[in-house]
Amino acid sequence: MKIAVAAETRDGESRVAMVPELVGKLTGLGYDVAVEPGAGLHALLSDDEYVAAGAVIDADAIADADVVVSVQPLSMDRIRRLRRGAATVSFLPTTTEQDTVRDLRDCGITAFAMELVPRISRAQSMDALSSQALVAGYRCAIVAAGMLRRFFPLNMTAAGTVQPAEVVVLGAGVAGLQAIATAKRLGAVVRAYDVRAAAAEEIRSMGAKSIDLDLETLEGSGGYAREMTQDRAARQRELLAPYIANADALITTAAVPGRQAPLLVTAEMVEQMSPGSVVVDLAAETGGNVEGSVPGEVVRIGNAQVWGGKNVPSQMPGPASRLYAQNVVNILTLMTAPTVEGVESGTFAPDFDDEIVTGSCVTHDGEIRHEPTRAALE
Ligand code: NAD
Repeated sequence: MKIAVAAETRDGESRVAMVPELVGKLTGLGYDVAVEPGAGLHALLSDDEYVAAGAVIDADAIADADVVVSVQPLSMDRIRRLRRGAATVSFLPTTTEQDTVRDLRDCGITAFAMELVPRISRAQSMDALSSQALVAGYRCAIVAAGMLRRFFPLNMTAAGTVQPAEVVVLGAGVAGLQAIATAKRLGAVVRAYDVRAAAAEEIRSMGAKSIDLDLETLEGSGGYAREMTQDRAARQRELLAPYIANADALITTAAVPGRQAPLLVTAEMVEQMSPGSVVVDLAAETGGNVEGSVPGEVVRIGNAQVWGGKNVPSQMPGPASRLYAQNVVNILTLMTAPTVEGVESGTFAPDFDDEIVTGSCVTHDGEIRHEPTRAALE
């Protein structure tokens, strides 16, 4: 059977779903691997490297593929070129990609969404949300350090002592913890806040100070946060204001699954920051944690430069692709029938009794299988 690696066509997407280094894992499972020309170029991976790894380069790779792997969902014209019964593995945000979901259903495609892989221990190696959040969190800290026109670390020199930068991180999930770890490694004094009780210990384990606001914690299901009420949000903003006013760099990474990002910081709060301070809002694309942040742009609010994140993992396409490709290899391995007598090796045969398979499946056999998406669309 054949796996096609799609070239990404969406604006600003620099990642690729498979890297040469991991092609051998797929051929080892018994698949033929075909890569669209130039698929890895933005991630600095040449066609020659894919060929050397055992793949073929084929402009028509997706047309007769059994499985097409990509980072972003395929465009509609490309979905219509797939063979009925073929499968796709990609990110597929079902709430914002409803037309794509309808097309996948109508074309009889079995579509798997990487963001729907259940966050259970067995699926950790397939968790692309985490792998990409790790890249994004690191990037946010580096952007903040790069924009801030002063040192992150303490410097004690013959010419005097330079105080370290004060960094505040809001949201201490996968991205936030990575931002904390990176800012700490650069020597900043880091304080962080998250609404989940478990986060305080994780913040401290990174060497940062946990901000205690003396508010009720907000645990939702699956280890995620719950949405705040308006009163709670207002009180949280009020209590956070002095910490933000005192920060040289503010990094925000807060999210609540299935909702717009919570507004944690008003423009008025940013206006209290000192001249030269920087704000990095990873959530700018999903509504923004910071009022006035714009995805993909740097805007000035008061004395601060506010950087809005836009497809942040794609800004480090090499490592982001490598991690994503490993997630893809792991999920494809789960969905490949074991080599036993009577079964051809490299047989793509997802077991629909497996919770990882059912959890991540959006469309199959001409139907929408993901219940919330079906309820929204049918
Ligand atoms: P996420 O991207 O949904 O949210 C980022 C962070 O924002 C979360 O820590 C959340 O608590 C925080 N947040 C939400 N509202 C906030 C507010 N008003 N103020 C401050 N912070 C707010 O979450 P994520 O990073 O994908 O994961 C969060 C948690 O999920 C992890 O820390 C972990 O406990 C769990 N998780 C489990 C697995 C697994 O079991 N395989 C994998 C990844 C994450």
